[in-house]
Amino acid sequence: MDGLKKTRINFSIMATESKYIPYGTQWIDENDIEAVVRVLRSGYLTQGPQVSAFERKIADYVDAQWCVAFSSATAALHCAVAALGIAEGGAGVTSTNTFVASANCLAMNRLRPMFADIDPVTFNVTASSIKKVVDPTVKVLIPVHFAGQPCDMSTIASLASEKNIAVIEDAAHAIGSNYPDGSRVGNCKYSDMTVFSFHPVKTITTGEGGAVTTNSRSLYNRLQLLRSHGITKDRDLLRHNPGPWYYEQQALGFNYRITDLQCTLGIRQLEKLEAFKRRRREIIATYNESFSAVEKVKIPNQSTGSDPCFHLYVLQMDFAAMGKSRAEVMEELNQLGVGTQVHYIPVHSQPWYQETYGYRWGDYPLAEAYYERALSLPLYPKMTDTDVNTVIQSVREVVG
Ligand SMILES: *Cc1c(COP(=O)(O)O)cnc(C)c1O
Repeated sequence: MDGLKKTRINFSIMATESKYIPYGTQWIDENDIEAVVRVLRSGYLTQGPQVSAFERKIADYVDAQWCVAFSSATAALHCAVAALGIAEGGAGVTSTNTFVASANCLAMNRLRPMFADIDPVTFNVTASSIKKVVDPTVKVLIPVHFAGQPCDMSTIASLASEKNIAVIEDAAHAIGSNYPDGSRVGNCKYSDMTVFSFHPVKTITTGEGGAVTTNSRSLYNRLQLLRSHGITKDRDLLRHNPGPWYYEQQALGFNYRITDLQCTLGIRQLEKLEAFKRRRREIIATYNESFSAVEKVKIPNQSTGSDPCFHLYVLQMDFAAMGKSRAEVMEELNQLGVGTQVHYIPVHSQPWYQETYGYRWGDYPLAEAYYERALSLPLYPKMTDTDVNTVIQSVREVVG
C-alpha cells in the first residue's frame, strides 16, 4: 500500500546479555549503519537527496500529501504553529499530560498555552475536556496522542471546525498507529498538520529529528520556508528573479534543517517500523497478561477500535497500598537492573508555566491524579523475552 520495502527482523539475533534494562532505547542494526556510511561517502551531508526521499516515504507511509522534515519535533512544532500565522494575543490548547515541547511551541510563537484535562481511561484530551477551556482567543488545538494511542480525532475535528480553530496533532508517540477507521495517524484527515519525533527513545529514530505532514500546499510551502531562515530559491515562489544567484527572505525563519545522514537512517528505520510495532505488541501482551493479576497495579487501557503502535507502557500503581513512595519503587527497580520513567509531570505544574501564566497545582485534577500513580516500564523492540521476564519478576517483587 505504501510501497515501502519491509525489513524482516530476527529478534533473537539481536539478543545480547544486558545487565541494565533502560525504559526505552533505539534499535540500530548493520543495515542502518551501512546506509549512513554510504551517504558519508556520497558527498552530501545536509539537504541532499535523502531529505526529500525521506519526506516522500513518510508522506506515503501515513498517506498525506506533503511532509517537511526538521531537526527535531520541537523545531517542527515551533514551525507548524508559526505556519498558521496566528496574531499575537491568541492562544492554543494542548494536553497537560505531555512533554513540555507540546506547549512550549505556543509560547515560542507568543501565544498563550492553555491546557485541557485528560480522560482517565486513555490519558488523552477529548473534545469535551477541550470544550471546557476553549474561549474566543483559542486559535489552535494541539491534541497529543499519548503513548501512541490516538485521541478521538473525529470529535475533536468537529469541535475545531465548528469554532474555526486549526488543529496540529502532536504524534511524537504515534508513528505507526491507526485511527479507529483504520487509516494512519499523520494522514491529516482530522487536522491541518501532524508532527512526528525521531528522537532515539521514540519508535523510529534519526538521532534527533522530526517531521510535519500536511495536505495543504500553502502550509507545506510555509513550513519549508520557516525551516531555513525564511529563505526560498523556488522560482515559483520568488517575487523577482534577476538571476541564478538570487534568493529571497520572505519570512523570519530558523535553521531547523535535518541532514542527509539523519534522513537515510530514517528511511531504513521506517522500513523496520511494522516489525517494531509487532514486537512492541508482543511485549505489551505479555506485560498485560502478567500485570492484570497483580492487585496494586492497573494495566493501560486500549480504547476500542483503535490500532495503536504503543510508544510507552504506563502502569498505574497504588503506591499507598504498597507502603512505598514512587521514588522508592523506582530505586528498588533500578537496583534490580530495571529502568523506569514517569510520563508526564503535568506541564501546568512546571515552575516556568506557574510563574509566567499563573497555573496552579489543582487546575487539572485528572491529569494530576494520573501522574501521581504513573510509572513507565521498559518498552522497546530490542528487549529479549528474558528482559521482559526480568521486568515482570522485578515489578512483582517490588510491588509485593
Ligand atoms: C519527544 C516529544 C516531543 C519533542 O520531540 P523532539 O524530537 O525531542 O524535539 C514533543 N512532543 C511529545 C509528546 C514528545 O514525546
